[in-house]
Amino acid sequence: MFTANEMIKTFKDNTLKLTPQRVAIFRVLEKKAGHITAEKIYGNLTKDYPNISLNTVYTTLKMLVELNKIKELYLNKHRVYYDINVNLHHHIICKVCNKIEDIYINERDININPSFFDSYKDLSYQINFYAICKNCSK
Ligand SMILES: [Zn+2]
Ligand SMILES: [Zn+2]
Repeated sequence: MFTANEMIKTFKDNTLKLTPQRVAIFRVLEKKAGHITAEKIYGNLTKDYPNISLNTVYTTLKMLVELNKIKELYLNKHRVYYDINVNLHHHIICKVCNKIEDIYINERDININPSFFDSYKDLSYQINFYAICKNCSK
């Protein structure tokens, strides 16, 4: 589970620099949960932290990705999203409003011949589905 307090501890344990801005980024991630862009996090913080830069947000997010605390999602060509749910799951994205929802697929339901991956090690995957959501199809 991603919590700001847990991240503070992780940063301390790894002797990474903790700044009030970094902690604020953790808190936005915790509060917003779900899937969020660096720009959105930045937008949430500029009022309370006028000195924060988008670059600080990116650097902190990259550190969290490297610590395996959040996942980077490539859901469309416009933006990278960050997900605090690092468990294996997939996404469905609305082609109109860009709403993102988690989808859990049973491994057995993915009918791929494992021999396709014979020559690869450490396989991971992430499936994106694109559709028009209920709201947008009204
Ligand atoms: Zn939609
Ligand atoms: Zn997700």
